[in-house]
Amino acid sequence: SANATAQIGVTGLAVMGSNIARNFARHGYTVALHNRSVAKTDALLAEHGTDGEFVRTETIEEFVGALEKPRRVLIMVKAGEATDAVIEELAAVMEPGDIIIDGGNALYTDTIRREAAMAARGLNFVGAGISGGEEGALNGPAIMPGGPKESYESLGPLLESISAKVDGVPCCTHIGPDGSGHFVKMVHNGIEYADMQLIGEAYHLLRDALGASAGEIAEVFTQWNSGELESYLVEITAQVLAQVDAKTGEPLVDVIVDAAEQKGTGRWTVKSALDLGIPVTGIAEAVFARALSGSRAQRKAAHGLAAGTLAEKPSDAVQFTEDIRRALYASKIVAYAQGFDQIAAGSTEYNWGLRPGDLATIWRGGCIIRARFLDRIKDAYEADPLLQSLILAPYFRAAIEESVDSWRRVVSTAVQLGIPVPAFASSLAYYDALRAERLPAALTQGQRDFFGAHTYERVDAEGHYHTLWSGDR
Ligand code: NAP
Repeated sequence: SANATAQIGVTGLAVMGSNIARNFARHGYTVALHNRSVAKTDALLAEHGTDGEFVRTETIEEFVGALEKPRRVLIMVKAGEATDAVIEELAAVMEPGDIIIDGGNALYTDTIRREAAMAARGLNFVGAGISGGEEGALNGPAIMPGGPKESYESLGPLLESISAKVDGVPCCTHIGPDGSGHFVKMVHNGIEYADMQLIGEAYHLLRDALGASAGEIAEVFTQWNSGELESYLVEITAQVLAQVDAKTGEPLVDVIVDAAEQKGTGRWTVKSALDLGIPVTGIAEAVFARALSGSRAQRKAAHGLAAGTLAEKPSDAVQFTEDIRRALYASKIVAYAQGFDQIAAGSTEYNWGLRPGDLATIWRGGCIIRARFLDRIKDAYEADPLLQSLILAPYFRAAIEESVDSWRRVVSTAVQLGIPVPAFASSLAYYDALRAERLPAALTQGQRDFFGAHTYERVDAEGHYHTLWSGDR
C-alpha cells in the first residue's frame, strides 16, 4: 500500500528491541515499530523519536502493512513461548517471500522447528544470534543470522550496516542454514561463561594467594589488557574491581553476594556438547561453578570443613602474577579450542557447512567475547581451514608451550593453598590428555569387554576382539 514505507519492522521494544530499532533508524532506514503494549512504543518515540524515521503502529496488521516487500520483521521479544505466539500472529498476515527474523536468545532446536514450519507456509525464517547487550544493540552488535541463504540477500545489507565493524569488516555474516545462527550464538555464550570463570579464578588467586586488594587487582587487569589478553571482558573486569560502593566506601565487589546466576545459554551449550560428544570442559566447569556458588544453603552448611595442611603463599608476587597471566591465557586458548570443536561437530551433525574462520571474524567486535585474540583465531583458520584443533595452530601452540610451566605452577599452588580453580585445572588436564601418547582408556575398554563383551580394538591388528577373561566364568 501507499503507506508501506518501512524497510524493517521491529516488534518487542524492551531494551534490546528499542536499541536495535534506533540503530536501524540512525543508519537511515525507516523503521516500523510494534510492541504488545503500546506504552513501550510511545516511550521510545517520546525519548528517541528524533533518531530517525519511525512508523508508529498499534496492531500487527498495521505493523505488517507499513513494510516494503519483501517484508522484514525482527522479533525481539522474550525467548520461548512469547516468540512462538508472535511468530504465529505475524505469519497469519505476512505473505510468501516475506522474512521473519528472531533476534532473541532462542534455543537452536526451536529455531530449526520454527524455520521448517514457516518454510512450509512460504515464509523465510531467520534465527539470528545477537550479542553485545544493550550497548551493542544501539552502537553495533555482532550478528549471527542463520536461515535460508536467499533471505540473506535482502536482509544482509541491513544487518551488516547496523553491526559492529572491525578494520571495516562487518561483525555479521550469513552463518549457515536453519538453526545454525542460534547454535553458534549459544556456543559464543558458552565460551563467554568459560572466559568469565577463568578471569574469576585469576582474581581469586590474586586475592587469596597473594592477598591483593580489589583496587590492586584492578590495576593488574588493566595492565593485562594492554597485552595478548586484551579483550572486552578483561577491560570491564578492571572497571568492576575498581568500583567503590557509595554506601560503605568499600570496593563494590566485596559487598556483592558471591552467588552467580545464569539464564541458561551456558547450560544449553553443555547439554548440546554432551549430545555431540565434545569435551567442553572449560564451559562445563564454568556452568557448574556458577551452580555451586549459588548453592547457598549447602555452602553455609559446609563452611569450616577442614582444609588440611596448606602450603606457604608464593613469596614472589611479581612472578606468581605473571604465572597467573600465562595460565589464564593458556586456559583461554583451550576454552576457545573446545568451543570451536563444538561448532565443527554441530556443523557436521546438521550438515550446515559452517566456516570457523567466519565466526572468529565476526566475534572480533560488538560481542561480549570480543578480543584481540580473535584476530589470531581468524588467521589460524585462514592458514588451515581443516585445523584439527585450535591449540595446534603454530601461534597458539607456541603460546601454550611458553606458558605451560606457569600453568602447572598455578594449578599446583592453587591445590596446595586450597583455592578452587576448576577451569584452570580442567583445561590443563585436557591439554595433558590430548597430548598423551597412551591414555588409560585401554583399561576402560578391557573392563567394558570384561563385563559386557563390548569388544576392543588391538594396536597390532585390524578388527574388533573379545577375550574370554580369566575372571569371566
Ligand atoms: P525481554 O525482557 O526478554 O522481553 C520483553 C519484551 O517481550 C517486551 O517487549 C514484551 O512486551 C515482549 N513480550 C513478552 N511476552 C510477550 C508475548 N506473549 N507476546 C508479545 N510480546 C511479548 O526483553 P530484552 O531484554 O530486550 O530481550 C529481548 C530478546 O533479546 C530476548 O530473547 C533476549 O534473550 C534477547 N537478548 C537479550 C540480550 C540482553 O543483553 N538483554 C542480549 C542478547 C539477546 P510487553 O512490553 O508488552 O510486555
